Amino acid sequence: MLMAADIPGEAEVTPVLELRGLGREFTRRPVLAERFLSLFGRKPEIPVLKAVRSVNLAVQEGEVLGLVGESGCGKSTLGRMIAGITPPSHGEIVYKGELVSDLSREALKEFTLGVQMIFQDPYASLNPRQKVGDILAEPLRVHRMATSKEIRSRVDDTLREVGLDAAYRSRYPHQFSGGQRQRIDIARALIVEPQFLVCDEPIAALDVSIQAQVINLFLKLRESRKLTYLFISHDLSVVRHIADRVAIMYLGEIVELAPTKELFADPAHPYTRTLLENIPSVKNRRRKFAAVKGEIPSPLNPPSGCAFHPRCSFATDRCRAEAPTGRQISPGRTVSCHLF
Ligand code: SF4
Repeated sequence: MLMAADIPGEAEVTPVLELRGLGREFTRRPVLAERFLSLFGRKPEIPVLKAVRSVNLAVQEGEVLGLVGESGCGKSTLGRMIAGITPPSHGEIVYKGELVSDLSREALKEFTLGVQMIFQDPYASLNPRQKVGDILAEPLRVHRMATSKEIRSRVDDTLREVGLDAAYRSRYPHQFSGGQRQRIDIARALIVEPQFLVCDEPIAALDVSIQAQVINLFLKLRESRKLTYLFISHDLSVVRHIADRVAIMYLGEIVELAPTKELFADPAHPYTRTLLENIPSVKNRRRKFAAVKGEIPSPLNPPSGCAFHPRCSFATDRCRAEAPTGRQISPGRTVSCHLF
């Protein structure tokens, strides 16, 4: 488990966002037979899915933290907890030094607006029956953030800021290409003046030719709006271009955290090494991102000891019996593996 205090400068600067032992479990509702059994005092055993186990992480103001892992490792659930969409089962979120669970109503509103999420599938996150102008205006109206006159100009300005024509405000989402819809989703998030964006695989559904344009837009907005990002991706090569630090997630836990350059130059955790080996490059001439060998274990029944041991070529008896804890291996670098 990696600790926030492992990040250099943590002691002096209050992170904009800090996660302390954050976790989320899911259980299904009992089926009829199980409810029937419980009437007779027999507690049915309902499996618990540990999507996010216990994440400790701090994000500094203005930085881009990449969060990388395979599908199903819990990274989207973590993003949704940060954005307030999914409530955590345990742990705390600290925003600008204050526990979110202790915030006053006013401060909670500031947090809710200050942390916005951008989704992988913009078509699913935009109401197909609303015109773009109404989609963008809605949060301003709901939160009474602007007068009717101001709303129009803010909608137009935000559309232009993301590279769209202001006249598009009177069109519907289905009238746009995938890249344009993602720009609309970004505008929807920006219009409430957030400080922190949780970007959940924001380019994964786009054509390769459009991906670079959207990444450049994120970089431009980071500069112009002084934004902080949690940038979630299954693909290390994507975060390489945008992230200052990268956190590698495996089966609900962060297994390595490092500055981007160091992680790519010298990956430490065996899982990070495997992910890097599978990145397409001119040398290995793979055209597509290749999956890591072996299947990710079910979070309903995680392996004993180190969760990566069934797929790790360095696994020992100790790995099968004892879960590793996070160790700082150099300033700003932490890894959770018995090899260190
Ligand atoms: Fe591999 Fe053992 Fe390290 Fe886990 S703790 S990654 S099994 S070497």
